[in-house]
Formats: sequence, C-alpha cells, structure tokens
Amino acid sequence: MNKEILLRVENLTKIFTLGSMFSRVKISAVNNVSFNIKESEIFTLAGESGSGKTTVAKIILGFLEPTSGKIIYKGKNIIESQKEDKKSIRKEVQAVFQNPFETFNPLRMVHNYLVETAKNLGANSNYQEVIENALNLVGLTWNDVVNKYPSEFSGGQLQRISIARSLLTNPTLLVADEPVSMVDASLRMSIVNLFAKLKKEIGLSVLYITHDLATAYYVSDRIAIMFRGEIVEMGSVDKVLTDPKHPYTMLLKESIPEPDPKKKWTKDIKILTLEEEEYQMKGCKFISRCPYRMDKCKNPVPDVEVDGRIVKCCLYT
Ligand code: SF4
Repeated sequence: MNKEILLRVENLTKIFTLGSMFSRVKISAVNNVSFNIKESEIFTLAGESGSGKTTVAKIILGFLEPTSGKIIYKGKNIIESQKEDKKSIRKEVQAVFQNPFETFNPLRMVHNYLVETAKNLGANSNYQEVIENALNLVGLTWNDVVNKYPSEFSGGQLQRISIARSLLTNPTLLVADEPVSMVDASLRMSIVNLFAKLKKEIGLSVLYITHDLATAYYVSDRIAIMFRGEIVEMGSVDKVLTDPKHPYTMLLKESIPEPDPKKKWTKDIKILTLEEEEYQMKGCKFISRCPYRMDKCKNPVPDVEVDGRIVKCCLYT
C-alpha cells in the first residue's frame, strides 16, 4: 500500500553569516536539500557533526529561518503559513531533544510538566487519564512519575517522559535530534525501539537525526546520508547501508550493520566558509577524500537514480 507523503522538504538552503562587521564569513550549512517523510515512516538523516542535519531539523521545527526552500506539511508551506496555522502545525510536529536533563528544570517535579501540557491542550478533570495514556505508550505509568524530580530518573526514563509529553498533543511527526546520544549505551536501543513501537501502534512518523549508523540501520525505513550540507545518498536503509553506491557511504559501511551503539562517527569535519568552498570545490564536496575522483567531479554533480536510490556522484553519470 502506498503511504501518503506527510512532510516535504524542497531545495532547502541555509547560509549563516558569522563574524563581526569587518570580517564576515558565510557558511553554507545546508545546500539545496530535498526529501520527504511519509505517514508511519521512520526517516533518518545521518551524518557527521557539521553535516547540516541539525540545521535541517531546526528549520522544520521553526527554530531557524531558511535562506531559501520550502517545508511543505500536509500540502502547506510551513514557512509561509499564517500564525494560527503555524500553531496547529507545531502541535502536530513535535521535537525530541538530545539531552532530556536539559528539557526539565531540576527543581521541578516532572509530573507538573505533563499536567501543565495536558491542561493547556484542554484536558481538565480527565487530565490524569490523558497523561496515563501517553505514559503507557512509552512503557511508564502515572505512579512511575508522580512526585519525582528529574534527578530521580535515568537519562533513558527521562527521554521516555519527554516523548510522552510530546505525545499529549497527538502529533503525526516527531523530529528527534540525536535522542539517544545522552542516554546510556545499554538503554539506547530501548528508545529506538520505542520509535518503532509508536510507528506501529499509533502510526507516528519520525525524523530520526543521528550520527549513529547502527541504530539508524536498526530502526529506519529510509535514510539520507548528509555530507557538508548536501544529501549524497538517499534510499531504503537496506540498500543504502548494506550496498552503498556513494564513495562516502562506502567509507562508512565498515561501521555497520551490527546494532552496536558504540560504533559511530567520532571525528568532526572541518566546516569550510562559502568562499573557501567556492575556491576549493565548485563540484563534489567529497573530492579531496574520494579514491574515484575524476576531472568531471570538479563540475556541479547531479543527483542520479541508481538501483532504486538517489546518489550524488559522477560515477553514475
Ligand atoms: Fe568521488 Fe567524483 Fe563521486 Fe565525488 S562525484 S564522490 S569525487 S566519484
């Protein structure tokens, strides 16, 4: 059965201007990125630090304005939507942040957050039932959380509570930016499994942003690999991670497919300014590390369909 497209990212570009008035530099964090997320789908954006994946998430969540491009949610461009529309979209598209300990004030009992959110959304006398339902979906109960401070929970439990709070708004899409990186290695798979469970039980879609290919392989339906602000390969997770076609994805293949959260990218990549980038490479951004580089790789590289996935590489042109 064909699933409907829930969210479309079209030609998204974000250029940051950094520095003082006298020495400004422009950084291209995201460059012409396009992808879509379907209903009940876990879509992963994977890449090293500085690859632009978090910038994409922030734009989708409305925390950043793009330089150009569109975010189409259920047929409406979020960026150009009116205030009221934006408000209702924000309820349906919820964020799960990296560090659950930063989501909650250490001096405030966590159940207060859930009560406040439920009441703000219109639950009154039945607020406890509404909260209990959301907590049950993440494997917890009201009794597990009531009258406790954040420090009384593990990172994994607190991340579950944070997800339960997001579920109170009946979202269709969770944007989860590195949601397991601050969670104990032994508990990471339980959070990732929770996404799969929510997809199955309530039809939730998840944009999973990670540098951890092992959990991405385990949980995703489709994946896009980002390198220096661009998607270099995108397709079904099986195809992309077990039979990669882009030389960069090939380079990463050795760290997968076992679901071992310890295996991940650890090196940060150097972020080039726009001027350096334009000077060094108008063509493929991977050229300096690519064993297959050719003269034509110095020119703009097209997206090519190869064996059911999209690859940005001259090897296939
Ligand atoms: Fe390598 Fe050329 Fe493909 Fe870039 S475009 S990954 S340099 S073969």
